[in-house]
Amino acid sequence: MTQYTLSELPYAENALEPYISAETVSYHYGKHHAAYVDKLNSLVEGTRFENATLEELVGNAEGAIFNNAAQIWNHDFYWKCLGSARGGEPTGALGSAIKEFFGDFAAFKDAFNAAALGNFGSGWTWLVKNPHGVLEIVNTDDAANPMTDGYTPLLVCDVWEHAYYIDYRNGRAAYLESYWNLVNWDFVARNHGGQ
Ligand code: MN
Repeated sequence: MTQYTLSELPYAENALEPYISAETVSYHYGKHHAAYVDKLNSLVEGTRFENATLEELVGNAEGAIFNNAAQIWNHDFYWKCLGSARGGEPTGALGSAIKEFFGDFAAFKDAFNAAALGNFGSGWTWLVKNPHGVLEIVNTDDAANPMTDGYTPLLVCDVWEHAYYIDYRNGRAAYLESYWNLVNWDFVARNHGGQ
């Protein structure tokens, strides 16, 4: 049974150029992201998770089922965090919250970049809201997702090498510099709530 499907990319594969190439998106979405979907479908067959939603798997599964489910969720979220003609700085309630918790936008960006550069190996760097409404930057390893620790994800950067190797080789810092030109702050603001 094909239970899980690959979510549609919210834009064309070349929409993130010149910052992230169509070739990178083609591999990242069409090969890596798609492979997690195929793998998860084969893994859940015949298990107690056969009818679970993706969110239920992220919350309750372990091992390979968790890893593949969380990678699907994380990638769906990552693509939505980006877009063409984006970037700039957040305004409104989100812009104010970033100033409140990080000082100003430049300080937030520096802290996020430092976390992403320091995220050893494969993983994700997130802007999250904790249960008390405080914004924090957190790193997760491999497929891990901060929702399992009670955080609300607002923004994510994929720091697996497959996200940038074609365009930047091992240059994670250069990828991060480009990343800020693509962030869809409207999406991040909706995650922050009330917009
Ligand atoms: Mn990825």
